[in-house]
Amino acid sequence: MPSPPRIGFISLGCPKALVDSERILSRLKAEGYETAADYGGADLVVVNTCGFLDSAREESLDAIGEALAENGKVVVTGCLGADSNLIREAHPDVLSITGPHQYEAVMNAVHAVLPRPHSPFLDLVPPQGIRLTPRHYAYLKISEGCNHRCSFCIIPQLRGDLASRPAADVLVEAEALAAAGVRELLVISQDTSAYGVDLRYANSIWRDREVAARMFELCEALSELDTWIRLHYVYPYPHVDEIMPLMQSGQVLPYLDVPFQHASERILKAMKRPAASVRTLERIATWRELVPNIAIRSTFIVGFPGETDADFEELLEWLDEAQLDRVGCFEFEPVAGAPANALPDAVPDQVKAERWHRLMARQQEISAARLQSKVGTTISVIVDEAGAGEAIARSEGDAPEIDGRVLVSDADVEVGDMLTVKVDRAGPYDLWAHPID
Ligand code: SF4
Repeated sequence: MPSPPRIGFISLGCPKALVDSERILSRLKAEGYETAADYGGADLVVVNTCGFLDSAREESLDAIGEALAENGKVVVTGCLGADSNLIREAHPDVLSITGPHQYEAVMNAVHAVLPRPHSPFLDLVPPQGIRLTPRHYAYLKISEGCNHRCSFCIIPQLRGDLASRPAADVLVEAEALAAAGVRELLVISQDTSAYGVDLRYANSIWRDREVAARMFELCEALSELDTWIRLHYVYPYPHVDEIMPLMQSGQVLPYLDVPFQHASERILKAMKRPAASVRTLERIATWRELVPNIAIRSTFIVGFPGETDADFEELLEWLDEAQLDRVGCFEFEPVAGAPANALPDAVPDQVKAERWHRLMARQQEISAARLQSKVGTTISVIVDEAGAGEAIARSEGDAPEIDGRVLVSDADVEVGDMLTVKVDRAGPYDLWAHPID
């Protein structure tokens, strides 16, 4: 039997792009293709690109160039693929270019160069597909696209309006992941709180009952699986309060990833943020009242056009009051095609950098103090890495890759284990702990 064709795969970009990569890899595997670890061993290379920031666009173009130089046969997909002229100009020799989520088109491009191999044995693929994340956690994408039009963002141009998956679709995938050993599901989308709006919250049948395509109902149904459920990209709309009882009862992790982006109403309006008029500090206070151990993560942009010293000071004061657990910060970067680029009063790079450092320093004190308050308490963790009586784990308040770690000593555990630990000490980002019975 001839050896099956081998595909090299480069996956760039955010967790949503990672999910696309997993789907394409699953299809390739299901059709009998093999993956190659390097360009030389591949018959063709698929590059899943990112087009969000200019730096990401450059990284994507470089990756395509490298794959062309090393291999010669390159299929491009993903967010940057929506801008095919840009790619064609830089790399006229690529075989095909498609945008995000165009799995069928990617498969067609592969088939055109490397016909599908024939072997009944090679059609075997695990029902949960191929995942790039470790076995014990997985991203669960509940929708594509976005109905908002934030002025710094081109995602709606790249991915279109909100398109939610029916609840049963999401739940069947989650069930397969849980059955395959996944212990933590990370719910992702562009706007998780808007889930189902486009479907008018339509019901679909799962486990012989109707489940509405609505954030609360989806979370409630997901909580029937024996996994942690972590919510990302949630906007601070009032209906998010409905999720709090699910956190109180332990059905959903006491964790919210809420991209606030700024605190000044003037800047939020210029950003055209969906939550510009929501009284966010009040929302946070309500959440903390209902779920005292909730961990809130957010991201902010400093140096947005027109941001004055006063706007920035307002943001720092807001952070003091909000006492968020984890914060990521970006300096405003004019993404090609974003309406914000046309706004007056650009902030000089040096001022942006100063503001970034000041914000990070201020928040580090807050985050460190919040972690310090956990010393002596008992928390639940999930093990990410294990070896020689020690483990690197995460608490309920830490998402993989973006938040902190819990370093556990005297632990005879395996990856994916969940255990209860007592916190011995805290650093600026991580905790140290030991297991208790
Ligand atoms: S909510 Fe705003 S920032 Fe987020 S994807 Fe939609 S338009 Fe972009």
